[in-house]
Amino acid sequence: MGLREKIMAQLSAMQPPIHGGCLCGKVTYVCRATPVWSVNCHCHSCQALSGAPFVSAFSVPAQSFETSGDTVSYRRSAESGYEVVTTHCAACGSRVHAQSKGATHLKNVFASTLDDASNFKPVSNVYLSEAAHWVEPPETLVSFPKMPHA
Ligand SMILES: [Zn+2]
Ligand SMILES: [Zn+2]
Repeated sequence: MGLREKIMAQLSAMQPPIHGGCLCGKVTYVCRATPVWSVNCHCHSCQALSGAPFVSAFSVPAQSFETSGDTVSYRRSAESGYEVVTTHCAACGSRVHAQSKGATHLKNVFASTLDDASNFKPVSNVYLSEAAHWVEPPETLVSFPKMPHA
């Protein structure tokens, strides 16, 4: 199996509908498409926003993703120059999803919010150049020192 087939196999293990939500349960979502990418993101912003050494997330077509419940947004300027908006539950603060203004056709959903994460598999490590020195990044099919261009 080639690399591309391996990546596709890992991504397609997550079959829609994909359900999830925040810690307190006030924000929920459903995604009606198969993820197109997945990552462990080791960037400093993800570390600071999550309180963890890295976060795991998957990308889905934006139009396939529906959410309900009150949210608050945090906007920052990413290294790419594009604004990145992260969306958090207004009640418990869980970070549920994010979107870059440079890729508005995608929503990036944090795997920690999945109702059932058993079929989730991060296919890549990104921003390894910023990885916390106290964790060994998990093995993935591909790795990048920064964010690769889609
Ligand atoms: Zn909540
Ligand atoms: Zn990040």
